Amino acid sequence: MGSAKFIKSAVWPEDYPDTNRPEVALVGRSNAGKSTLLNAMTGGAKIAKISGTPGKTRLINFFDVGAHYRIVDLPGYGYAARQLDERKLWAEMTEKYFAQRENLGGILLICDVRREWTEEEDIVNKLAISRNIPFVCCLTKIDKLSRAESLKLFNTWIETSRLPKEVFFPVSALKNDGVQTVEDYIFKAWIKPATK
Ligand code: GDP
Repeated sequence: MGSAKFIKSAVWPEDYPDTNRPEVALVGRSNAGKSTLLNAMTGGAKIAKISGTPGKTRLINFFDVGAHYRIVDLPGYGYAARQLDERKLWAEMTEKYFAQRENLGGILLICDVRREWTEEEDIVNKLAISRNIPFVCCLTKIDKLSRAESLKLFNTWIETSRLPKEVFFPVSALKNDGVQTVEDYIFKAWIKPATK
């Protein structure tokens, strides 16, 4: 994907950067492997380092990648310990971004392959559908499973989400397995058409 340059952090639309590039938004349950995947995609520890800084994990972080597009790292959801008002803030923050951002080119949902499709994943998918935004789901940490196990879980994700199999991309950021496939797909399907 090329190197990433941190642009800014924001909470509400008035603080977002300009809309001069198509954006790819990444969202997922905390600990799903979002930062690790971002690192693997951009070939450096910079994104994770910035996004993981105290105070930034709960903000929307914008990074320009190469000359053509931008990665938007949305805060993770599903912290069990978090209070209801915090979860409400997360929902409002992300929903506003998904609902209003005109240069949003696609949504990448990051899930730990060993977990399952829940209401939260469904909310993200429904937001994408409601605005006709392309949506894919990366199933991370496949290196933790045998081939047979990952195939079985892959099918469970398809069944429980009721989404076509093309939506799911199994990856291991640790082993750099499947990462290039997602990158190629995103570039071809989302970035290239938007930068023409
Ligand atoms: P985030 O909260 O979604 O940003 O998750 P992180 O990227 O910080 O990853 C959470 C934990 O999962 C860390 O301990 C990572 O090292 C681990 N992890 C992430 N991706 C992989 C992977 O592909 N394989 C394995 N085995 N571990 C991973």
